[in-house]
Amino acid sequence: MDLYEYQARDLFEKHGVPVLRGMVATTPEEARAAAEKLDSKVVVVKAQVKTGGRGKAGGVKLAKSPQEAEDVARNILGMDIKGHIVHKVMITEGAEIDEEYYFSLLLDRSNRRYLAMASREGGVEIETLAVEQPDALARVAVDPLVGIDRAKADEIVEAAGFAEEDREQIAEALIKLGEVYTKEDATLVEVNPLVKVADGRIIALDGKVTLDANADFRHPEHEELTDIQATDPLERRAAEMGLNYVKLVGNVGIIGNGAGLVMSTLDVVAEAGKDLPGHPHPANFLDIGGGASAEVMSDGLDLILSDERVKSVFVNVFGGITSCTAVAEGINQALDMLGDKASKPLVVRLDGNAVEEGRAMLSEKDHPLVQVVETMDEAARRAAELAAEATDENQEA
Ligand code: GDP
Ligand code: MN
Repeated sequence: MDLYEYQARDLFEKHGVPVLRGMVATTPEEARAAAEKLDSKVVVVKAQVKTGGRGKAGGVKLAKSPQEAEDVARNILGMDIKGHIVHKVMITEGAEIDEEYYFSLLLDRSNRRYLAMASREGGVEIETLAVEQPDALARVAVDPLVGIDRAKADEIVEAAGFAEEDREQIAEALIKLGEVYTKEDATLVEVNPLVKVADGRIIALDGKVTLDANADFRHPEHEELTDIQATDPLERRAAEMGLNYVKLVGNVGIIGNGAGLVMSTLDVVAEAGKDLPGHPHPANFLDIGGGASAEVMSDGLDLILSDERVKSVFVNVFGGITSCTAVAEGINQALDMLGDKASKPLVVRLDGNAVEEGRAMLSEKDHPLVQVVETMDEAARRAAELAAEATDENQEA
C-alpha cells in the first residue's frame, strides 16, 4: 500500500526523522485555519495524491498569509493530477531551501538485499536522474538483517559525496529512515527532496512510503492508513470477506482456485470474447484458494453476482488436494445459500481429483442457471457467449 505524503510525514516524525510541521485540510477554510495555526512566515499548500510530480503539475504552492493559503487551497482541491483527483491538501511550514538532495531505500528482490540510493541532485525525479546523471546517484546494498546502522549510513553518505559538514546530520537521518523501513515493514522509503535549509538543518521535505501488505498482521495500526475513498466498493467488500479479488473492466465474472489457474482463465476468456459482439471479457480476478469451501464459494459468488456489470460467471476449479466432490458440494451449497440472489448464468468447469463424481453431483442438482462444461476452452467460450447474449438483449430491450 502506497501512503500519502502526510502519512509518510507522520511515520517519519514518529521515528525521529526531521520533518516540517504539517496539517491536513479538506476545505479551503480548513487550509486557512491550518496556516493560522502553523503561524509561519510562509506556508506551503501541497496536493495529497499518490503520484509524483505534483510540483510540476501546480499541486505545490507557497502562500504568504492564511488568506493566500485559503485561495491556493481552493485552486488545488479538486485538481486532477495525472488522473488523481485532489481531495486533501497538506499545509506545511515553509522552508528556506539551500539545497535539495535525494534518498531512497527499497527492496532489491533479485539480490536479496535492500538498496539504498542517494544523491546530491535532488528535487528531480529519480528516473530522470538515473538516466541523465547516473554517476550522481550512489547505490549501496544494505543487508536486511542489519539495516542501516552507523557504518552503513556513513558508507552511503560517503558514496553520495555529501559535504563534510553535513555528513553527520544526514547519516543520522538515514539511520532513522532505515528504522521507518524496518519497523513499519516498508518496501520503499523515498525522500525527494531531502533538503538543507538556510540555518543548516537537514529535513525530509517530501516522503513516499510503500508498506508491505504481507506484514499487515504485525501492524493493526496501519489499517487506519487505508484510503477508503480511493478503494473500489467491491474491492473493499472483498477485503472485508478476506477474498483475493481484483476488479477488472469486463462483464464475465471469474472464480477459480489458485492464482495461476485464475490468471490463465482471464486470458482464455479474453481470447474467447475477442470475436463476439461487444467483446466480453473478464470482470474480475478472484482466487478462492485451494480449499474452495462452500462458504468461500458462496461469498465469492455473492460478491461477483452483486456486480452489476457481470452478465455471466465462469467457475473454473481444479480439484487437487480438495476433491471435485467437495467443490461440487461447495457450489451446490453456495447456490442454496444465495437463493434468488443467484441470478446470472453460471458456467462450471471442474477437473481433477474425483471429477466424475463431482460433475454427477452438479447434474443431479440440476440448477437451472448452471451449465457444466468439460474443458476450460469450451467453458470460457460458453461464458463469453452468455455475456454477449445478455448484453445484446439489454440493448434490444
Ligand atoms: P513533488 O513535486 O510531488 O515531488 O512535491 P515536493 O514536495 O517534492 O515539492 C516539489 C518542489 O517544491 C520541491 O522540490 C521544492 O523545490 C519545492 N518546495 C516544496 N516545499 C517547499 C518549501 O517549503 N519551500 C520552498 N522554497 N520550496 C518548496
Ligand atoms: Mn518530491
